[in-house]
Amino acid sequence: MINKKFLRANLLLLMLTFCVFITSCGKSSKTPSPEDNKNNTQVINKKTNMVKNGNKTPENLLKNRNFSGDNIKYNDKGIPVLMYHSIDYEEGNELRVSKEKFKEQMEYLKKNNYTTLTLNELYDFFINNKPVPEKSVVITFDDGYKDNYINAYPILKEFSINATIFVVTNNIDKDNNCLTSDQLIELNNNGIDIESHTANHDDLPTLSYENQLKTLKESKTFLEKTLKKEVPFIAYPYGKWTDLTTKAVKEAGFKMAFSTSGTWSDKTDGIYTLDRVYISGNFQLDEFIRRITDRDYNKSH
Ligand SMILES: [Zn+2]
Repeated sequence: MINKKFLRANLLLLMLTFCVFITSCGKSSKTPSPEDNKNNTQVINKKTNMVKNGNKTPENLLKNRNFSGDNIKYNDKGIPVLMYHSIDYEEGNELRVSKEKFKEQMEYLKKNNYTTLTLNELYDFFINNKPVPEKSVVITFDDGYKDNYINAYPILKEFSINATIFVVTNNIDKDNNCLTSDQLIELNNNGIDIESHTANHDDLPTLSYENQLKTLKESKTFLEKTLKKEVPFIAYPYGKWTDLTTKAVKEAGFKMAFSTSGTWSDKTDGIYTLDRVYISGNFQLDEFIRRITDRDYNKSH
């Protein structure tokens, strides 16, 4: 019992230190000045035009699928929304999952007929009670590490797996460990959803309402301009939010938001405070399987 309590306390501490620990993607970058932002926007627009002029037709993300048959479920049930950060092994840093382990996990999902839902499909499931396959899972990455493009993207493509990357927009094109706008465009054009993780990886509850609104809107506008699509979803940095935060998120135009708590996403969480399931670099495959098959596992361990 004591051990369990101790472990739970440690897990909570771990949750709170998410992203701080490994945010080398952006940790080194200074907080951009308004002038930086202005210049950055110009670069992005130029790059976006280059893609357009290269006759690449930007494709929208997959349209919501219609699921039917025996093995479907409605929104009285939950869904495991997996939370990754970096896909690149680093000794002693369990917040980074190795490429090999990530591949093993994605291969497991594919071989065992899991459906990887897009966030639009998850939204439809929660809000419109549109059914999804019993074995549904959602893949998400926080922060926008370059290794998501280099290591995770080829694996996602290999197994035709849908995923979402929540990016810190002021790190784009500025930090070598973070994704570039060209990479974001390529990912977006190939079915990998790009959504917001604020402009500066902000600790939202510490900011005034106006400043929360500012970073939320700034990140949303940046991504919508760069990707030429709607950006309706957000993950809170450090998983931290208050009632004021959810109010700002709504006002900024977001439709659904995620924290970092470790259980399945459930409609009782509330659409602006959905849980996610933590995947550690230390997990062996059996632990990964437990977390996607037992919705209450994380509550009791
Ligand atoms: Zn983060």
